[in-house]
Amino acid sequence: MAAPHVLVLPFPAQGHIIPLMELSHCLVEHGVKVTFVNTEFNHGLILGALATRESNLGGIGLVSIPDGLGDGEDRKNLSRLTNSFSKVMPGELEKLIGRINDDARGRERISWLIADVNMAWAFPVAKKFGVRAAGFCPSSAASFATRLRIPELIRDGVLDEEGWPRWRGTFQLAPAMPPMDTSEFSWNRAGNPKGQPVIFQLILRNNADTHLAETIVCNSFQELEPGAFSLFPGVLPVGPLFADSGTPVGSFWPEDASCAAWLDEQPANSVVYVAFGSFAAYDTAQLIELAEGLALTSRPFLWVVRPDSAGDERYLEQLRRRAAPRGRIVSWCPQQHVLAHPSVACFVTHCGWNSTMEAVRNGVPLLCWPYFTDQFLNQSYICDVWRTGMKVPLPPAADGTKLVGRDVVRGKVEELLGDVETKARALALRDLARRAVGDGGSSRRNLRRFVDLVKGSAS
Ligand code: UDP
Repeated sequence: MAAPHVLVLPFPAQGHIIPLMELSHCLVEHGVKVTFVNTEFNHGLILGALATRESNLGGIGLVSIPDGLGDGEDRKNLSRLTNSFSKVMPGELEKLIGRINDDARGRERISWLIADVNMAWAFPVAKKFGVRAAGFCPSSAASFATRLRIPELIRDGVLDEEGWPRWRGTFQLAPAMPPMDTSEFSWNRAGNPKGQPVIFQLILRNNADTHLAETIVCNSFQELEPGAFSLFPGVLPVGPLFADSGTPVGSFWPEDASCAAWLDEQPANSVVYVAFGSFAAYDTAQLIELAEGLALTSRPFLWVVRPDSAGDERYLEQLRRRAAPRGRIVSWCPQQHVLAHPSVACFVTHCGWNSTMEAVRNGVPLLCWPYFTDQFLNQSYICDVWRTGMKVPLPPAADGTKLVGRDVVRGKVEELLGDVETKARALALRDLARRAVGDGGSSRRNLRRFVDLVKGSAS
């Protein structure tokens, strides 16, 4: 019998591609054939970062379709990106499935589509071809739950029709769930005033097609979010997803291979790791305060400053000089392996869900500096529910006129590193995460159920 052939479609952003690549590697290991669909632009970045033209990444077939934007257009403009791909990609995906199925001539035709829940327009496309559909949730189950419960939140007077909270305070989505603050809805944390309606409308469109997915796989684990998973028994937590060292996960930028040797030279439990994911950007004055604050700690630090967030080379050089001799600045690193290194003591993070899960899996305490969308909700999980981290006190003005000062940075890093209870809780959560993905663990069992479903052997 031919292996089942799965088409995997992420939302076209780094933090969505990486966990779906990790899930794809798991499927390949279980004998599933995977074709991974990136936009042409991201496909180019991924191959460029690996300096290869190879269209097979550790057994995963890579293909691409256009997102409808021109070469030089700003893909960080969410409104332009989502408007463009919503128009162009459904037709392109149809053509792609048609092409693959024609070539397959009965063998290895596409049998399943696994699409990001943020690309739910793809589910009706799959149905047209008789292809079965599963969703992939790259965020926390709690964040996903708030999205699915928007109609109830409007009915109950928590939200208005535009998605804004009607009052300020905490509420519970369900009795088993931790309290949430009404300021934390991901769509209201768009990073700029024009972003909210774009994200909110996108979520409503996605919600309308989500029911077409037979199941939804989530990069979280049962024991981490029992309340949220109790709301959605059809959602299968399979996380924390991860990739072994050397397994490509579709990075947009080349990983700095020298990090491991540098970390090896540092004392155990000494390094402050600083990284804000693939999208967040802080202004220059803020980054200088951060650099000064890190220098004041007198600790070794490893800081990821992405090429697209660094301004010009002169400025980057200024940061590098300020960081020396103890600090090291790199453009992109193998983060999962950095977090697993024994010399890493804590992680200053924007609280992206992947970064959060990677820290959980490695027992690393977090200093939270959220930037946008679900990162504020993730911060609450970290600081108020699991209590494995602390908040950087962010100034209320989001216009960049108020900064987190160097002394605050130094003080918070020192406070976090001096807190043995936070570290102990991070280690206990790490053990739970490892049990979940280990033999007989909840995530391992759920992954098996999902593989059986895809292979058609589910009961
Ligand atoms: N990452 C990485 N190297 C870096 C910085 C980040 O590999 O130098 C990875 C990180 O391990 C995570 C992803 O990029 O898997 C970022 O995802 P996250 O959800 O944390 O943030 P986003 O980029 O979506 O804001």
